[in-house]
Order: sequence, then C-alpha cells, then structure tokens
Amino acid sequence: MTTTLRLALTDDQRALKAGVTEICKRFPGEYWRELDAKREYPEAFVNELTRNGYLGALIPQEYGGAGLPIIDGALILQTIHELGGNAAACHAQMYIMGTLLRHGSEEQKKKYLPKIATGDLRLQAFGVTEPNAGSDTMMLQTTAIRNGDRYVVNGQKMFISRAMQSDLMLLLARTTPREKAKRRGEGLSVFLIDIRSLPGFEIRPLRMMMNHSTNALFFDNVEIPADSLIGEEGRGFHYILDGMNAERILVASESIGDGRWFVERAVAYSSQRVIFGKPIGANQGVQFPIAKSHMAVETAQLMRDKAAALFDAGEQCGAEANMAKYLAAEAAWDAGNACIDAHGGYGFAEEYDVERKFRETRLYKTAPINNNLVTAYVGEHVLGMPRSY
Ligand SMILES: Cc1cc2nc3c(=O)[nH]c(=O)nc-3n(C[C@H](O)[C@H](O)[C@H](O)COP(=O)(O)OP(=O)(O)OC[C@H]3O[C@@H](n4cnc5c(N)ncnc54)[C@H](O)[C@@H]3O)c2cc1C
Repeated sequence: MTTTLRLALTDDQRALKAGVTEICKRFPGEYWRELDAKREYPEAFVNELTRNGYLGALIPQEYGGAGLPIIDGALILQTIHELGGNAAACHAQMYIMGTLLRHGSEEQKKKYLPKIATGDLRLQAFGVTEPNAGSDTMMLQTTAIRNGDRYVVNGQKMFISRAMQSDLMLLLARTTPREKAKRRGEGLSVFLIDIRSLPGFEIRPLRMMMNHSTNALFFDNVEIPADSLIGEEGRGFHYILDGMNAERILVASESIGDGRWFVERAVAYSSQRVIFGKPIGANQGVQFPIAKSHMAVETAQLMRDKAAALFDAGEQCGAEANMAKYLAAEAAWDAGNACIDAHGGYGFAEEYDVERKFRETRLYKTAPINNNLVTAYVGEHVLGMPRSY
C-alpha cells in the first residue's frame, strides 16, 4: 500500500482551521496573559472548543465524535498555538481517549466516549509520572491491589496536569510487584477512574514556570471499582506505549504552532523597529536566526505530516512521530530565542506575550518525554545502536 503525503490543505481542513481561528480570535493575548499571571485554567476557551466539537475530533462518529484523522487533530492544536493560545489546557483529551478507544471494553466506550465528546465528562488527566519514576516508567511504585470488586490504590503521582479540571483520569499503577513480573514492561495496569469524589485521594497544585494546571497527587487506600480496569491486568505499559505516537504527533503540532507564532512576531517587530537608521531586521545578526527558525519549523512540519500520514494509514510511525516531536520542540525553542533577541528588552515585557510563549514552549523539550530520550530512541531503535537504558 502507498501512503500519500498531502502537502496542501483540503477544503475541509481549511474550513476546520477557519473554525478554530474564529474561536481563537475571541481569546486574544490579554486573555492568556491574565490567566497566566493568576495561573488559572482557561475554562471559557476550553468550553468553547468543546461546545464546537473540536475536542471530540478524534472520537469515532459512532461514539458521538467527529471521527477525524490525526492530521486534523494536529491542525486544530497547531492553529491554537499559531494564534498565541495554549492548547496544553486540553490536548490530553485528544490523545488519552485513544487508550480507552483501542483497549477499553465496548461497555466502557459506550459509557464514556459520547459524554467526553459532548463535554459532559472531561478526561484530561493522565497519571503516569511519580517522584521516583520519571522517564523510567517501569519503576512506578503506586500500587493497585485487587480486593473483591475493588482495587485499592496507594502511592503518589507527580506533575499530573489538569487533575483539578478533569472528571476522569487515566491512571497507570502497579498491579504485580516488579520482581514478580514475568517480563520487563509487565505488571502495570491502566485504570479509567472517576476522580470527582474519591475518599483518600488528594490533589495538591504545583506552581510551575508556566500556566499548566499541574499537581502532585496522593492516594491513601483509595478504592476504585474493579471495572475501571482498561483491557487486561498487567498490560498497561503496552497500552500506554501504544498511544505514544499520537501524543508525539499532537505535541509536535503545538510546537510547530509556537514556532510559527514566534517567527511571525519576530518578522513583524524587526521589520518596523528602527535603530541606527534602519529596521533591525535588515541586520543579518537579527534576520538569520529568524530565517533559520522558519526553515526548521517548516522541516519539523514536513516530518509531522509524514508521521501523521503513516499513522492515519495504520502504518508504523514510531520513528517519524518521535523525530517530529524532537524537531518541532527544538525548532520552536530556537524560534523563541530568535524572537526574544529580536525584541530586545520588549521580549521580556509581559504585554508582548513573547516571554509567556517562551516559557510555554520550553516545556516540550522536556515533557511529555524529554528530547534526550527521543534521541536515544532514534539511536537505539531506529539505528540499532547499543542501548543506554
Ligand atoms: C508542566 C509539566 C506537566 C506535566 N504533566 C504530566 C502529566 O499530565 N502526566 C504525567 O504523567 N506526567 C506529566 N509530566 C511529567 C513529565 O512527563 C516528566 O517530567 C518527564 O517525563 C521527565 O521525567 P522527570 O521530570 O522525572 O525527569 P527525569 O526522568 O528525572 O530526567 C531528568 C533529565 O535527565 C535526562 N535523562 C534521564 N534519563 C536519561 C537517559 N537514559 N539518557 C539521557 N538523558 C536522560 C533527561 O534530559 C531529563 O530531562 C509533566 C511535567 C511537567 C514539567
């Protein structure tokens, strides 16, 4: 089978982008700036996106979503970032529901997906990281022990975003002690849990560098129904890995949007700011980093498009999705630096939004997976070199 890589948007995609643009225009820089200062969740923006069906874009039509391919989900997120917004407030809803879709029972899908599509239920929290298990997920210590028709959860999660704003959370916990697991990668299970009123469950917000609604979570003998298990017990790590390509493609798209925003702002500012009698953008020291950033963002987009085309054709895309995430995060970061440099002191002034975007875009070099681990993936899995971990 030949996978086609489209280089131009279809009419439907142009309409999709126009719809998202119309919403974003109603939420300008001031909106994001004010929330950033108060570290508040963009409730109105997320509700507007949900009401218009954009967060249910990837949910199949039979469950009430739009049933769009991943490239369209990518376009939605990219557009939000191109226009100065921050889709981090809701992006996880697009990719975590994939675990439910691929591995959940028909009963679970019917129970949750239509309500997630309409926005009656929010699934935006994804509980993986722990204080002693960052990049090395296999070291997770939070346990879920079966006791009759319940599992009892104990442990701690770190940096879990949007737990306060979600009704549901996808939780990865250990159901078999590590030493008893037959193979590496077994013994962890995924649960879809309702976190609205769970005795023994505590959420402590963390003030981060950017407005990201991130928390530490504590589980003290928290009882969850046994039917919140997704798929088979012990297979959770594989289920999560299975969803990584979608996550990489979508997060890359946000970085591509950021990169475009930085380049556009840098071009506009440096073309009109006159110092020493000419626009600063005429100086190669200012112009070249911006032009180079543009080339890097374009390259990252090509890789994202390739990854998405393979994903939508149901083909292997691990290498491309990882490379897209890496290239896009680095391109956006370089574009952010070029933009701040071009703005001189004004790059640091809040009212220009550059410093806010600069802080926001930095995250994607580190999370959801850091670029060192992506590089190790390419070295070890794509090029077949010896493993470091
Ligand atoms: C704002 C924010 C939001 C987040 N939201 C979520 C969320 O919703 N859900 C969730 O589960 N997690 C979330 N995370 C966690 C995020 O996924 C982790 O921070 C990330 O996976 C890295 O884990 P760590 O911070 O423990 O870093 P560590 O694993 O301790 O790594 C620290 C650094 O060491 C380097 N490193 C580690 N191992 C290697 C290696 N083998 N080779 C080379 N270099 C290496 C990397 O550069 C890495 O950046 C969030 C984090 C942040 C900052």
